[in-house]
Amino acid sequence: MVNNTYPRPGSQAERGLPASRRRFLAVLGTATAGLPLLGACGASAGGPAASDHRGSMGDALPRVRVSQEASPGREVKRTSFPITAVGLTWTGPPHGVRLRLIDRSGKPGEWQDVTAGCPCGKDAETLRTKSTTPPNRALVPAHGSYGYQLDVDSGVKVIEAIAIDAGRLGRKQRPAPSGTPSKSAPATAPDTSGSVAFPPPGLVLRADWGADETKRLTADGRESSPTRFTRVQAITVHHTATPVDDPDPAATVRAIYEQHAVSNDWGDIGYNFLIDRQGTVYEGRYSGADGIPAHNADDEVVTAFHTFGFNPGNIGIALLGDFGKQRPSSRMRDSLVRLTASLAARHRLNPLARVTYRSPTSGKSTDGPALGGHQDWTSTECPGSAAYLDLPEVRERAAQLAR
Ligand SMILES: [Zn+2]
Repeated sequence: MVNNTYPRPGSQAERGLPASRRRFLAVLGTATAGLPLLGACGASAGGPAASDHRGSMGDALPRVRVSQEASPGREVKRTSFPITAVGLTWTGPPHGVRLRLIDRSGKPGEWQDVTAGCPCGKDAETLRTKSTTPPNRALVPAHGSYGYQLDVDSGVKVIEAIAIDAGRLGRKQRPAPSGTPSKSAPATAPDTSGSVAFPPPGLVLRADWGADETKRLTADGRESSPTRFTRVQAITVHHTATPVDDPDPAATVRAIYEQHAVSNDWGDIGYNFLIDRQGTVYEGRYSGADGIPAHNADDEVVTAFHTFGFNPGNIGIALLGDFGKQRPSSRMRDSLVRLTASLAARHRLNPLARVTYRSPTSGKSTDGPALGGHQDWTSTECPGSAAYLDLPEVRERAAQLAR
C-alpha cells in the first residue's frame, strides 16, 4: 500500500522528524485538517481554498499537495495527483540516484540520473543524519506524472522523497506586466531601463507567486525559523539545478519553498531572491510585512539558508535552472546585474572587491568575493560552471551600474 498523504501525527514516519516539524504536522492533523495546502490527496480536488489563505491579488492560493515517503525503497510510488516535482534527500555520493516517472496509466518512463543540486542549508541545521555536512538534495521535475520509482547505488541512502503538486495560480493572481503588454510577454516583464531601483520593478512578491505563509509557522502560530537581520557583507549567486526550460517558474518556486520550508524543516525558502530565464525576479525568504523584500527598516538583511556557514549578512540569489553547461539567458543575466547593482548601491558594496566575511554566529572570518558564487564559499558545483564563468562580467556591469 502506498502512502499518498502526509504522515498523521504520531505515525511511525513522523517520529524521526524534528520537533518543529512534528508540531507543524500536528496542526495539519487537527485544527486545519480540512485545509487545502497539504490536504488528503484528491480528497477535495478542485474545491475552494480556505478563505483566510489568500494571495494579495484576492484569489485563493494555489493548492499545494504533497506525498511523503521516509526511506523509500525501490517499489513504484503512485500518487492521486499530478506531480510538479519530486524532492529527494539522500546521503552518500552526490551521484548514484536514478529515478523514473510513472504516468497516469502506470507506464514508466526512462530512467534518469539525479544529481544533487545547490547544497544550501541552515547554519545550525539539525541534521536527521547526524552528519556534519548537509545531505544531498535534488528537485526533479515530474511534468504532471502520477508516480515515480527510485534506483540507487550501494552507499546511497535515500532519507526522504516528496512528491509535490505545486498547484496553479489563478489568472487574476498573475502579476501584471510592468511594461507594455504583448502576447509574448512573460507574466511579469522585467525592467530593461538599466535603473538600480530597489525593489526591482516587476518583482514578484511572495503573495503573488503563491507562498502559503502558514508553512513558516508552528502549531501555535510562531515562526518556526524566526527572522534575524544583520548588516550586509556579501552577495552570493546560486542555481537551483532544475531544468532551464521551465514552463511554470512560479510553480517551481512554490515547490522549492515546500521542499525547503517543510521537507527540510528550515521554516522558509532558502534564498533571498530567485530569477527565472525571462529575467523575472521573485521575492524569497520572508522578511516582514513592510513590503521591502529581504530587509528590515534598518536596512539589514534577513538571514536565509543558502550558503552553509556563511548565511547571516549574505544575500542569496538563485538562478532558476541548471547552469553546469548552459549559460544563463541574456534576460536572466541582465536581471542579475540590475539586482546585484541595486543591492551593492544600497549597501555600499563594491561588486569587484573581496571582503573579509565575519560570521556573527561563529565569529569566524573568511575572505571571499563581495559578489560571488556559492562555490567561492564551499565545495560545490553551484551555481554551475557556465553561470560561474559569467560572474566576472556580472561584477563589471553591476559595478558600472551601481556607481
Ligand atoms: Zn548554491
